[in-house]
Amino acid sequence: DSIWQMRAAAFEGQRRAILVTFTDLTAVEEANQIRRDFVANVSHELRTPLTAIMGFIETLRGPARDDPGVRGRFLDIMEREANRMVQLVDGLLSLSRVEVDERVRPTTPVDLKALAEETIAALEPLAAQGNNTVTLHAEPGNWIVPGDIGQLHQVLRNLVQNALKYGGPDKNVVIALHPAQFDVALRATAVRIDVQDEGPGIEAHHIPRLTERFYRVDAHRARTVGGSGLGLAIVKHIVNRHRGRLAISSTPEKGSTFSVLLPQE
Ligand code: ADP
Repeated sequence: DSIWQMRAAAFEGQRRAILVTFTDLTAVEEANQIRRDFVANVSHELRTPLTAIMGFIETLRGPARDDPGVRGRFLDIMEREANRMVQLVDGLLSLSRVEVDERVRPTTPVDLKALAEETIAALEPLAAQGNNTVTLHAEPGNWIVPGDIGQLHQVLRNLVQNALKYGGPDKNVVIALHPAQFDVALRATAVRIDVQDEGPGIEAHHIPRLTERFYRVDAHRARTVGGSGLGLAIVKHIVNRHRGRLAISSTPEKGSTFSVLLPQE
């Protein structure tokens, strides 16, 4: 108070204006917190497999040196852990690439039906492993959207991979293409791609958090099925870059549907 009075007195009689500025630091602080969490998460995710690999090296040097059976098993585990790290680094690179050009909307015409067929063919071996089928439902129609073919391929691949990974064995995964309709949220005419599984579903309170980096419903289970926890974060960023939206709905015990809406014009 006294400072204000002194200042007011100093300016008295002089035609001066006082400019008071307030800066809201909440958003800056939030961004800093997100960055700190991110670095902590990445470090943890990389450290876990590294610690495991180092532990196995130690054992291979010592007690397991002359036991070919143990050696083979340990090498398998080390390979799996190293693969996990490769997946994580690949995921981080994809994420940062998408973030860099998120402001630039891609415009190359992409045929979503052809892309879905390619995805199914590419994931055939993974589907066969779990005795799953992946089927495409699409009426004749216009499935062309402006986009980045590589990134849209990644969206479909991540969603179908998740449906296979989390859906469980002997189940059917459906990719359904729905013709363009006006979408109120997007205020645009958008094609919808649904990826549906018949898996255990996801409890409602997890759904809003699934696209956070490293968020996993069941960390232990997710570790055994593999994955980096970045897949849906990447999907969300790619869909945002295409000015579309991702909607997730799920019924426990029945299955989940991940819907991607992409504006057609
Ligand atoms: P990741 O699969 O590498 O763990 P994602 O970002 O792709 O990471 O998925 C985040 C989490 O969302 C998964 O760990 C899993 O718990 C949950 N999830 C994703 N897709 C499905 C699905 N189709 N059914 C059930 N849970 C799912």
